[in-house]
Amino acid sequence: MLVDRYNRVHNYLRISLTDNCNFRCFYCMPEEHYSFMPKASLMQAAEIEKLAKVFVELGVDKIRLTGGEPLVRKDAPQIIEALGKLPVSLTLTTNGVRLHEFKNVLRSAGVASLNISLDTLDADKFQLITRRDNFQTVMNNIDLMLEMGVYVKVNVVVMAGLNDQEIIDFIAWTKHKPVHVRFIEFMPFAGNKWTSNKVFTWQQILEKASEAFSFLPLKNEKNATAKGYIVPGHAGTFAVISTMSAPFCDTCNRMRLTADGKLKNCLFAKDETDLLTAMRSGENVEDLIRKNIKAKAAALGGQFPETFETLNSEEVINRSMIAIGG
Ligand code: SAM
Ligand code: SF4
Repeated sequence: MLVDRYNRVHNYLRISLTDNCNFRCFYCMPEEHYSFMPKASLMQAAEIEKLAKVFVELGVDKIRLTGGEPLVRKDAPQIIEALGKLPVSLTLTTNGVRLHEFKNVLRSAGVASLNISLDTLDADKFQLITRRDNFQTVMNNIDLMLEMGVYVKVNVVVMAGLNDQEIIDFIAWTKHKPVHVRFIEFMPFAGNKWTSNKVFTWQQILEKASEAFSFLPLKNEKNATAKGYIVPGHAGTFAVISTMSAPFCDTCNRMRLTADGKLKNCLFAKDETDLLTAMRSGENVEDLIRKNIKAKAAALGGQFPETFETLNSEEVINRSMIAIGG
């Protein structure tokens, strides 16, 4: 088991398959020129499988593939197949645009749940946010996944003044669509021009929701990041991921492996452990993993002040989101 100094058991690994992406969401990719990781520094499919097996030996029973966009990687089908054979619950976070091409592989790998990102229900705004014209494809693929019986969570990054007015539309959407919308507070990463006044908080999201709906809280799972709600009678639910206004670090069970094989014990961790180079040179990666997890900070990578309103994002030492893997 991977237990840290605060007795948190780490059984959930997120693996980034690539820092490349077919979208250009401005809150995720740095605005200035971004250099994608060179191919030689990326974990190869066999290396991903080998490292995943080490984590499974150490108690991991849930793996999420992410990126960048995990489904742009050419050998993504092989990786999904291989990890699907491990004794883990396997899931993915994706922008959804290529999901139709992965129907069979997702089914055969036993992927039962997916997170699909969609920040707006308006096709023009979708283009503004992602700089791509794929709104309808993503909507169709959400329907396709629902038809296949996949549990679909829809990630919506809420940014004040950009899409906060759509909170009600998203909740209305859950009336007949059995999707689980998760409103995510906007987080600071390298180059994404985060300022505290762009955060639309959990409290504000609930206030906005209550303008149109009466809703009830759901019972949350032990390590849940999202606080869930349901409007009685709706087929789907909604939730808030309140990383900025009410972090949930006390029950954190998550670790991240970047596409270049570095272990981050927190989304906001400054320090990383290079597992890929160690594995390539025959070192014992198990010891490195244990040491990394033992060093995990109590909250938010140990880099945030008491309240997010006083945070200067320039002082947070971290990668951009696209290079971490959300
Ligand atoms: N490309 C995939 C996707 O978009 O779902 C997976 C990678 S993406 C980095 C993972 C998640 O992080 C997405 O739901 C995205 O919206 C979210 N994300 C990216 N930047 C963020 C930010 N600054 N604050 C909050 N969430 C963010
Ligand atoms: Fe790509 Fe996902 Fe980042 Fe958008 S949020 S740029 S889809 S990795």
